[in-house]
Amino acid sequence: MGLILEVKNLTKKYGGLTAVNDISFEINRGEILGLIGPNGAGKTTIFNLISGLERRDSGSIRFDGVDITGLKPYQIVNLGLARTFQLVRSFRYLSLLDNISVACLSPRGKEAFGHIGIDEVASTILTSVGLVDKARIPPVILPHGDLRKLEIGKALGTNPEMLLLDEPFSGLAHEEKQGITNLIKRLSNEGVTIFLVGHVLRELMTLVPRAIAMHKGRLIAEGHPEDVASNKIVRESYLGRGEAFA
Ligand code: ATP
Repeated sequence: MGLILEVKNLTKKYGGLTAVNDISFEINRGEILGLIGPNGAGKTTIFNLISGLERRDSGSIRFDGVDITGLKPYQIVNLGLARTFQLVRSFRYLSLLDNISVACLSPRGKEAFGHIGIDEVASTILTSVGLVDKARIPPVILPHGDLRKLEIGKALGTNPEMLLLDEPFSGLAHEEKQGITNLIKRLSNEGVTIFLVGHVLRELMTLVPRAIAMHKGRLIAEGHPEDVASNKIVRESYLGRGEAFA
């Protein structure tokens, strides 16, 4: 086991707004950790800081024993920490197979898969995310749920030790959510550490054994998701947003 991610006293300001305010938490290797909080809580900013898209004002981030504070996104991916985005981004007119292949051509992907053959690996990844029958079509004609699976598939192409999943259920129908839940559980069973953001608490309940909650840039609760969801401060932070507990 042991720690894979250590976030210490992380702070990020945008002008007068402190989006992330002195946040500290840790993630164990192999764990699935959920991050919840209402809109604007600072969840995506945390992901952007960890994945190197944004620079922190203070604090530090260690991944797998390495200080990654201030590293560029590609350097962080090459250490084995990959992410997905809330707004799905892909090469819209390339086939799904080619989209995954591009990720497999990352230095870390090539190192792990180069000897096998990129097409074969991309095809295996498409199978694992349930898209292999659509390998030859472009993302531009895919439904939303499939795009989210593709997003995870692209991250897998970089052979990650850990995945950051930003709102993997957002905008999905019930069956699609179930499909993504099963996929995340399987990846976790295969040893990938998962850190995922959600703002609908119920969606995370059966998936994550531990959750942390943010509000206005601060960490306000930590523990079993049922306890976090019933925490008074968490419930107040969601006030007027009853759908979050639906
Ligand atoms: P959501 O669930 O709506 O995505 P979130 O919890 O992910 O919300 P963030 O996107 O991290 O919240 O935003 C936290 C706060 O920081 C918000 O008030 C947001 O408006 C602000 N913010 C985020 N990015 C920027 C930016 N680039 N410039 C200025 N303010 C920003």
